[in-house]
Parts: sequence; C-alpha cells; structure tokens
Amino acid sequence: MLESATSLMPIPGHVDPVPVPRAITPREDGRQDLLGLDKAGIRALLSAAGLDEKQAKLRAKQLFHWLYHRGETDFEKMTDLGKPLRPWLAERFVVGRPQVVEAQLSSDGTRKWLLRSDDGQDYEMVFIPDADRGTLCVSSQVGCTLNCRFCHTGTMRLVRNLTPGEIVGQVMLARDALGEWPRGNMASNMSAVVDADEDEDAPQYSPDGRMLTNIVMMGMGEPLYNFENVRDALKVVMDGEGLALSRRRITLSTSGVVPMMQRAAEEIGVNLAVSLHAVTKEVRDEVVPLNRKYGIEELLQACADYPKANNARRITFEYVMLKDKNDSDEDARELVRLIRKYKLPAKVNLIPFNPWPGTGYECSDPARIRRFSEIIFESGISAPVRTPRGRDIMAACGQLKSASEKKSRAELDRLADEKQAALG
Ligand code: SAH
Ligand code: SF4
Repeated sequence: MLESATSLMPIPGHVDPVPVPRAITPREDGRQDLLGLDKAGIRALLSAAGLDEKQAKLRAKQLFHWLYHRGETDFEKMTDLGKPLRPWLAERFVVGRPQVVEAQLSSDGTRKWLLRSDDGQDYEMVFIPDADRGTLCVSSQVGCTLNCRFCHTGTMRLVRNLTPGEIVGQVMLARDALGEWPRGNMASNMSAVVDADEDEDAPQYSPDGRMLTNIVMMGMGEPLYNFENVRDALKVVMDGEGLALSRRRITLSTSGVVPMMQRAAEEIGVNLAVSLHAVTKEVRDEVVPLNRKYGIEELLQACADYPKANNARRITFEYVMLKDKNDSDEDARELVRLIRKYKLPAKVNLIPFNPWPGTGYECSDPARIRRFSEIIFESGISAPVRTPRGRDIMAACGQLKSASEKKSRAELDRLADEKQAALG
C-alpha cells in the first residue's frame, strides 16, 4: 500500500490503533458464536468440529439462510437441519446477539441502544426513522483512536475494534427490535408482526414493508481503521441470500484515512462520506487531528480517485458547523473552490454541532448556517442542513459515548497529557 512520506509523522493526541487479530469474541461457556460469519466461515467451523466437507458445505448454506434471512437464533427451530444435528450444533455453537444494556427512545422517535459484547465492552447504535426511510447508525469500534476535538466518542480511552459479528449484530438486533424478519419465524415475536399488520398507518418504507432501509457507518469509531472487519460485516449485510441490503443504501463515513479509501472502493463499494469539517490546514489540523497525517489536498485527491463516485452516487462531505471556527462566508467559498478544483461529484451535509459535557465548541447560529448553505447552493452544489436527531437522549452525531466511560474534565486533561507523553 502506498503511503505518503508524511504518514510517519507523529500526531500529538492521536494513537494509531492496535488491530486485534480476532474474528470471534470468546465466550465464557466456550461455545463459538456464528453471528457475523459468511458461508465460508461457517463451513470452516463446521469442518473443524468434525463434519465432512460435503455436509459442512450444505449445512453452512442452510445456516446462513436461517441466520440472516430468517433471523433465527434457536437451532431447534431450524427444521431442515435434521434432528440429531440440532443438539450437536447447540452444544458447540450459538447464534448470538449483542447484549442490550439500555434502550432509549427520543421524543423525535430516534432510538439508541447501549450494547455489550461477550467480553464486556460497551458500544452504541442508533435508529433514525424518517418520513421515507429508516436509517441505522452502526458503530465500528468501541471508542475511537482519533481525537476529533468536537466529538464525544474521541474522548473515550478504551478502544477496540468490533468483530464482524458485533457489527452485523447491530443490524440483526435492530431487525429483532423492529419485528422485521419474514413471517413463519416469528413465534417468539408474534405480537410485533401482528401489530405491524393491523396498523394500516404503519410506515411502509421499502417494497417489503421494512422500516430499516439504510445503514450508515457513522456510529462510534473510524471504520477504515477496522477495515477487514467492517468489510466482512458489510459483505454479510449485502449478501442477497441473507440481509440483502443494497450497497446503494449503505454509506461509510471516514475522517480521511487516505491509504484505505481505494481499497474501500474496491472491496466494499458502498457510498462514501468524508468528514471534512474545515477547509484550511490550520483549522482542520485542530478539529480533525488526522489532518496532520493526511492533508486536505491529499484527501480530496483520494476522493477524486474513488472509483464508485459519479453523479448518481455522489460523495457526501460532512461539515460540522462550529461557531467562529469554520463557518465564515470565506470558508464556504473555499469549500466550493476545492470541490470544483478536484471536479468532485459531491454534496455537502451541514451538521449543526451537537454539544456534549466538557466540549470547548459552540454551534454556529442558525442564520450563519443558512448563509453558509446558500453560498454553496448558489454554486450549484447541494448543501442541506441536517436536522439534529435524538439530542435529548445523547444519540445525535458525535454524542455517542458509553455511560461506563464518562469521565471528569480533569481526568480527560490528564489522559490527553498521557497520550501526548507517550508520543514523546
Ligand atoms: N469516524 C467516522 C464516522 C463516525 S463520526 C467519521 O468521523 O467520519 C460520524 C459523523 O458525526 C462525522 O461526520 C463526525 O464528524 C460527526 N460528528 C462528530 N461529533 C459531532 C458533534 N459533536 N456534532 C455534530 N457532528 C459530529
Ligand atoms: Fe472518531 Fe469520527 Fe469521532 Fe473523529 S468524528 S473522533 S474519527 S468517531
């Protein structure tokens, strides 16, 4: 992989992640969780447990269907598996779900779940219902190694990559909660199905009537710092024999991990969102410290090279509106100039800054945000202002941080010093 010479520069306050080479989080009971595995992965585990090759292949295909098309977690209910095989599987494997520590509902309908992994790590996911779609905001890491100054997640100390199972598990859990598995499998969840059927006013977002229509990798963590697991998870989510979500309905958001963007296009191929947030080196260095490693021009060149981008599938630039920091008319004009310079098929998402305890920033005034948006619109680039969702339950962009991780201001300062010292 090609990296620029600047990639070796140390970034104060930023610690490169140590990837955890582990596909499945170990369980206390010793059984292995099949959730998150693709057909080849399931097949390999079945072979290792003693099934012959032919059996392993057939059973993997059946299990894949039960897991991801039907949402079944109980081997006994997988009726085409053969009676003796079911207890054999149950002895060795489980089809897990993340543990739900807390589920919250915002006054605007947004839902947030605090989830826990088998080894006790906490992470969050958010579901945002809209008039014509339902979007699940999925986390890729516990915490984040990139300390963007305006983002609550960036202040978490503990970071570990989520496994494919923990990433796919968020989608599975959302489908469970929304009662969105095909009929015939819903014995334990019948009330949800009946309710949906009886309520004629219930939103019917997709042709099959499901509410979960879109996925954004915009929860906790930097997805391109957990590339393999995010890729493998999204492949399972997109597999036509399982969850079957179209790649056009999935968006991966990155703060600008330039060396991974080409691979993301080739190996995942979903829509790209880039957290730009500033148009000068000085300001972006401050708000997105990764900019010291991969600068604005380098990042925009990588966007221009992103092969999946075209006018039908534009790159989204996310821009958080910070009062007196990045919100001047001049900033807006510079943003337009940069997008034009690189001939990017782009749209800009203006995100009003969502405050969190201890932040040093304020949100720009509404009139300022409107003016900023107009300047971009006038140049022919779409620049809608995103309505904050779920602020009352701390579910809005950048507010995610596990309850177990809340720290005092003094402790945050001490941590920042520690990280600084570690980098020399
Ligand atoms: N790490 C990835 C994806 C997760 S962050 C990334 O940074 O792109 C998802 C989005 O929320 C990003 O655009 C991020 O910049 C934005 N965000 C973070 N903190 C925010 C805050 N306090 N208010 C508004 N948006 C925020
Ligand atoms: Fe990490 Fe994204 Fe938050 Fe930056 S904005 S700290 S990359 S989660």
